[in-house]
Amino acid sequence: MTASVKQISTELVKKYGEGQRARIERGLKQVADFWRNDDGDAAAYEELVRNNFAGGQAALDTMFNRFERLLEVVGGHMVEIGRELRQQSDLDLGPIQPYDETFAGYDPSAHLTDDFFGNKLAFVVLLNFPLKTLDQKLTEGEKWTRREWAEERLAGRFSKRIPAEVNLAISVAAAEAGQYIAEYNIWMHHLLDEKGNRLFPPNLRLLSHWNLRDEIKADYSLKNKDTSLAKQRMIQTVMERIVTQTIPDVVVNNPHVDWNPVMNSVEPSKVNDSDTSVPPGMVVNSSPEPDTRYRVLLSTFLASKKADPYSPTAPTLIARRFDEGREIPEERVRAMLVHVLSSPLVPRVARLIEKRLGRPLEPFDIWYNGFRPRGAYTEEQLDKIVSTKYPTPQAYWKEIPNLLVKLGFSAEKARFLADNIVVDPARGSGHALGAGMRSAKVHLRTRVEKTGMNYKGFNIAVHEMGHNVEQTFSLNEIDHTLLQGVPNTAFTEALAFVFQGHDLELLGLAAPDAKSTALQALNDFWGTYEIAGVALVDMAVWHWMYDHPNASPKELKDATVQIAKDIWNTYYASVFKKKDVVLLGIYSHMIDSFLYLPDYPIGHMIAHQVEEQMRKAGGIGPEFERMTTFGLVAPDLWMKNATGSPVGAEALLAAAERSLQQLEKE
Ligand SMILES: [Zn+2]
Repeated sequence: MTASVKQISTELVKKYGEGQRARIERGLKQVADFWRNDDGDAAAYEELVRNNFAGGQAALDTMFNRFERLLEVVGGHMVEIGRELRQQSDLDLGPIQPYDETFAGYDPSAHLTDDFFGNKLAFVVLLNFPLKTLDQKLTEGEKWTRREWAEERLAGRFSKRIPAEVNLAISVAAAEAGQYIAEYNIWMHHLLDEKGNRLFPPNLRLLSHWNLRDEIKADYSLKNKDTSLAKQRMIQTVMERIVTQTIPDVVVNNPHVDWNPVMNSVEPSKVNDSDTSVPPGMVVNSSPEPDTRYRVLLSTFLASKKADPYSPTAPTLIARRFDEGREIPEERVRAMLVHVLSSPLVPRVARLIEKRLGRPLEPFDIWYNGFRPRGAYTEEQLDKIVSTKYPTPQAYWKEIPNLLVKLGFSAEKARFLADNIVVDPARGSGHALGAGMRSAKVHLRTRVEKTGMNYKGFNIAVHEMGHNVEQTFSLNEIDHTLLQGVPNTAFTEALAFVFQGHDLELLGLAAPDAKSTALQALNDFWGTYEIAGVALVDMAVWHWMYDHPNASPKELKDATVQIAKDIWNTYYASVFKKKDVVLLGIYSHMIDSFLYLPDYPIGHMIAHQVEEQMRKAGGIGPEFERMTTFGLVAPDLWMKNATGSPVGAEALLAAAERSLQQLEKE
């Protein structure tokens, strides 16, 4: 191969001139990097590059335009096929048959990249267009032309060639982890306090960690403060025992034992609140779960690691998550998280929470949710208004132009957008589906009950309409379809939240008052403070696994517990007046989601940046269009175009500061 590369390089330089040498050498190397034995011998390699190198600008333009157009068509039709296959399961169209589920699960685009390497179109791209590292995108990207960005996106589609068996191993590990998490329930009526009391009602089965956390949140609104405190403390103990794996194995997803989490004692249950029978051979003792949580996490790591050799520009899962997925360097993400965690606003907000609670903070108060504003209208009043206005999905569709005009779009733009949106009756709560090609339309799926739309449904529909408007602008009004979309989901969510935040005005009601806005901002700030620490744990754990690839589940457990404590001690202990808390290790996403957690705090920051820009601009319509027609460039570049600054925590912190001043005044 090396000899081949040398020989063909000389030949091509001779043919196209010295000026093409750099492109030729880069292209030959990029093809050779991904070439495998079963792609053919040296002669096949030489033939491919000889026939497909675009040695002049005109040939290159033709190639670029053809690939852009055909990839739009392929991608767009794949979206159409997928939407049709999922129609019965996504929409409110009567019973789902078993074969409907199979259709819904079938993804004809799953092997597209493999196919394009197989038929060698991927090699044609790699021969002619450059792969770029994240560093290049960030340092040079600002000076690139739009075409150069589009070329980077074209080549980037083929930046890795992961063998089918490796992808299979990853999805097997992901499925196993998902299953482990999905079946990890705690039967709450079977938790006993020191007096043997059951604090939680029968039949309550909470999934770790989401439902447990949400129960802590819900308990803040209980009238009896002693009850809420006892419940919240008990859940904290349960969570700690899950993290440290001192939880008795027999209590997991089992309603036939009673458990005192503090003493960690178990006994056969004296009450029966499930319709399942005692598992045969159940042995009731407190022997701990055998580090399964960490064995499962370790297996997701080992599977991910198998892809490393096939991903030359991002050779670890950590690099793939930050450099490719987020396109924000890990170091910058860490700095943004620390910016929030070490903000002087933290102790001020903490004191405010203590004042509102009338007691010192306890560790579970990282999930405090008492800043949630109470609306001026009851849910019932709102339901009535909405159901009268929107008895059917079609009634909502008819209103879209008016709603968009209220959001500041011109009548003409509103008409154009509305004509590109199809409204369908959703089976679930609602979602938005983009198009993928300009000849197709975007879909707004909304839930409408027999009695008409309710307020919750309307609130979601407005959010999804925000997605649809972004999807329309960022495909139909953009200069290159290779740049369609926004940098990542945090951006489209931020844009959808802008719409959603104005839902009351769209109903002709008063906007939330200054106090509600302030409470909402503090709620976001406290939530970001919590999840930023969790994200740091997730990141440190993945680094530890890469540093200790042969670790046992027990060693991973010990390391995770220590990491969770260290991060707690650095950023939370002085605020909560307690050391060595392990709660930051409880997130289920840390076990089954492959370093996904940093997306949450970044998402909050991005949402506030976009929100703040809308506030400054004083309106939504034209600003929304300007932002969303910039497309799929690096996030920092997108944000600079949108707001003048790269992605960061400043807007979130500024909003929290303003809100704090407002509430401290009262
Ligand atoms: Zn959304």
